Amino acid sequence: MTKAYDYLFGPVPSRRLGRSLGIDLIPFKTCTMNCTFCQPGETPCVVSERGDYVPMQDVLTELSQWLEKGGQADHLTLAGSGEPTLHIHFGDIFRWAKEHTDIATVLLTNGALLHDPDVRADAVLADKVKLTLSAWDEISFQQIHRPAEGVTFDLLVKGERAFRHEYLGELSVEVFIIDGVNSQFSNVRKIAQIVQLISPDRIDINTVVRPPAVAGIGASPEEHLQAIAELFGPTASVTTSFKKQGFQAMEISEEALLGLIKRHPASCGQLAGEFNLPEDQMFKSLKYLVSTNRVMEEMRGTEAYFFCRN
Ligand code: SF4
Repeated sequence: MTKAYDYLFGPVPSRRLGRSLGIDLIPFKTCTMNCTFCQPGETPCVVSERGDYVPMQDVLTELSQWLEKGGQADHLTLAGSGEPTLHIHFGDIFRWAKEHTDIATVLLTNGALLHDPDVRADAVLADKVKLTLSAWDEISFQQIHRPAEGVTFDLLVKGERAFRHEYLGELSVEVFIIDGVNSQFSNVRKIAQIVQLISPDRIDINTVVRPPAVAGIGASPEEHLQAIAELFGPTASVTTSFKKQGFQAMEISEEALLGLIKRHPASCGQLAGEFNLPEDQMFKSLKYLVSTNRVMEEMRGTEAYFFCRN
């Protein structure tokens, strides 16, 4: 088994992206928001200042090594446990990819910094971009996302709309539904009106499938999500993180498993779903990592969750 990369994780199968190699440019849970539903937990560093959070040259070196070793993926995805656009040089990943590989690039962003023209100038280099919009006004934005000082709902929407005008690639918007908080039809209609202003190519309706940062934050039932999706029109569909139907099982490596658990604590069943593997096979891999002290196990409610101490 090989050592996990510091900045790369996966590839993991994704319904939308096929095999997606994650690239994490931000230290664990450094983000412009502290969303109540965040799966990696509370954000200890809620910031909006951009910087050289990790050495970009080291990330590019890992990518080169991964390619040299015959790494294969359908997408290179800027994601992880924080907000990638906080890294002042995140655009270098897209420039590198265009020069060294045919693999398409993806940016997953909460959109908080898209009001900054410098951020938009680099974000347009991604082949696909997914934004978030789950609130309908400042009060709901603060309640759901608990953003860094200076990050406002007005700025978020202005930035996301400005980006749509400048971006020619595939743009999707994820609407994250929390039961009883933004799941009521009256509130969803308001969110849908704002999403329409952004004119994305696709709208993904998602909900809580792993333990959230704040206790009591819960998922809406699937039938309700389907009804909600209709309010957004024909380009909207329900996508929950662990629906992987239609994918071949992926070969599991310690590297891929550790990389994922480090960023997203998950149960055995969820990880088995993530890699499309039988649960007993995943359970054996997890128990091995626990026995060698690289992964910890903790009961959350009635289910055991696996995580790495950061
Ligand atoms: S859900 Fe995303 S945007 Fe929200 S705190 Fe977690 S990492 Fe940041």
